Amino acid sequence: MNITYEELNDQVIELKAQLEEAHEIINAIHKGEIDAFIVNNEGRHELYTLKSADKTYRLFIEKMNEGAITLNRQNIVLYSNTAFANLLNIPLENVIGSYFEDLIPAEFRIPVNDLINNAWNLQESKAEIVLPGKNGPVPVMLSLNALETDGGLALSIIAADLSLQKETQEQKAAMEKKDEFISIASHELKTPVTSIKGYVQLLQHNFRQEGNDLAANLLGRVDAQINKLATLISDLLDVKKIENGQLYYNEKLFDFNELVKEVVEETSQVLKKHTLLQDLGESKMVLGDRNKIGQVIINFIDNAGKYSPIDSEILINTAIVGNNIKLCVKDHGIGIPASQQGKIFDRFFRVSGDKEDTYSGLGLGLYISSEFIKRHKGTIGVQSEIGIGSTFYFTIPIAS
Ligand code: ADP
Repeated sequence: MNITYEELNDQVIELKAQLEEAHEIINAIHKGEIDAFIVNNEGRHELYTLKSADKTYRLFIEKMNEGAITLNRQNIVLYSNTAFANLLNIPLENVIGSYFEDLIPAEFRIPVNDLINNAWNLQESKAEIVLPGKNGPVPVMLSLNALETDGGLALSIIAADLSLQKETQEQKAAMEKKDEFISIASHELKTPVTSIKGYVQLLQHNFRQEGNDLAANLLGRVDAQINKLATLISDLLDVKKIENGQLYYNEKLFDFNELVKEVVEETSQVLKKHTLLQDLGESKMVLGDRNKIGQVIINFIDNAGKYSPIDSEILINTAIVGNNIKLCVKDHGIGIPASQQGKIFDRFFRVSGDKEDTYSGLGLGLYISSEFIKRHKGTIGVQSEIGIGSTFYFTIPIAS
């Protein structure tokens, strides 16, 4: 082979440059500027490096909640973040350099291999599988993408944890089941309860006329219990209507304090073991559904009675605040922990604790109340201290 001096010189210069580059890489590996590892691929040693130029990006991938992994053409893991290693429940150092297939639980190997093949063929490749996880199985969505890189094609796989999403879906489904049951049950209950109420009132009237006061009084108690049942059923029906956006509001102008006085008068007949005090400020006209606003006030007063000791006082006051009229119902009851005050207006929410288990209820009254007040463009809230008492309030705009 004849080689000229110039050609030889060129080759030497090129080899020198390659040697220098190799030295630079080795130096960078020594200094930790480059992550590198060698894969033995069918007898050949292949060096893979991740250059420090991508440091910010790598840091971001390292910090993200999703698992991220990169495979070479032989499906060997070139890179994995800690999140993916945790999902696999395998130490990070054992993940890098392994065949991806070996890391996947046996039952998912075939479908995952199909996904990988699709992704290499540049087809969309996504599927849900379950990975072992550090604290038990985790449902994940795998998304695979073939990427063009400096070193040729690579495959990136992102694993997004679906546990939270699944939990929310399950909760939603459970809530829907509950709603469906409530809707059917409340409908079925309404008619018989109304007719029982009618018969009880008829009997009460007859007994009273016959002079049998004992029987008439006993039936009075039955009637009071039926009223409780009827309120429960109507709450359940209201919830259904709120959810379906079918609640009808009969808006009229009315005198706010007149309504408060009426409601206090009515509820004091029932809450005989509490003292109801009124402190009503200047009254104003309000445009709204009088019955529904009345229902909110009844709910506040009923709760104040239910969650406070016998013989304690309940104070009902009204005041004008800017363009609104404000109603407060203050009790000296058990109070509500600060952590739960924000949730008590949610559907079916009841304060948890040993004491509260002794009070009956469905956790719907305040939810319905807050819906009514919101529809009147008002605000609703509570101030409360454990063991001291609670003040429930709402405001609604004064009619212009
Ligand atoms: P219910 O009383 O039927 O459970 P509500 O929606 O009226 O439903 O109230 C939701 C929860 O808020 C109650 O379960 C109770 O834990 C808490 N709560 C409501 N009013 C009071 C009050 N005046 N004092 C203390 N806790 C209250």
